[in-house]
Amino acid sequence: MEEVPGRLEKVRHSIARACVDFQRDLGDVSLVCVSKNFDAEAILPALRAGQRVFGENRVQEAATKWPALRAEFPDVELHLIGPLQSNKVELAIDVFDRIQTIDRLKIAAAIAEHSRKKNKLLPCFIQVNTGAESQKAGVSVEDLPALLNACRHDLGLNIEGLMCIPPFDRPVTPHFALLHRLARDLGLEKLSMGMSADFEQAIQLGATHIRVGSAIFGSR
Ligand SMILES: *Cc1c(COP(=O)(O)O)cnc(C)c1O
Repeated sequence: MEEVPGRLEKVRHSIARACVDFQRDLGDVSLVCVSKNFDAEAILPALRAGQRVFGENRVQEAATKWPALRAEFPDVELHLIGPLQSNKVELAIDVFDRIQTIDRLKIAAAIAEHSRKKNKLLPCFIQVNTGAESQKAGVSVEDLPALLNACRHDLGLNIEGLMCIPPFDRPVTPHFALLHRLARDLGLEKLSMGMSADFEQAIQLGATHIRVGSAIFGSR
């Protein structure tokens, strides 16, 4: 894990360059450092290097790792970027600061219910299955407006933006462009898209949150 600070610096440099190239404001692009499958020992160098926004894809794993790290770094902002099951919603609200993966009404309703009980309303994203892949999480493009409407008006959730994971074997830019257009049409400001291999393209197409794991921590 010696390499983490150097890799992080390289990623930050690439983000800054992409912002110049594509006329984006550096302050509008948040690096979500994806620490799934890495333990506290691996994460600490990133924290010591000043990184504060992290993403995890499993609720239980995050609940095990992060409370101790937070005690040391209270200004951490932790995002859930993996699928959420109803029975994990309550724990997720305790552990995370953002949920990026709302993709159906049942989960949205559970988040609303537990948020009320805990008096803790997390900003959330809706995950969109832009590639219409049967095995992938995310609401379909067709069902997105109704889900957003229910989240906002029936459930009172704070939906900030949209998130997508494009098909791994297809060009990413059409998916990033689609997510951008959907967010614009629906009046949503935030876009979580782009990973280690393609975050520059995501920045070009309007990403406000890029989720970068292996470029910082190495392969999992
Ligand atoms: C693992 C993961 C990432 C990070 O992927 P890398 O290719 O390692 O950068 C981003 N988003 C989600 C949803 C992930 O599960």
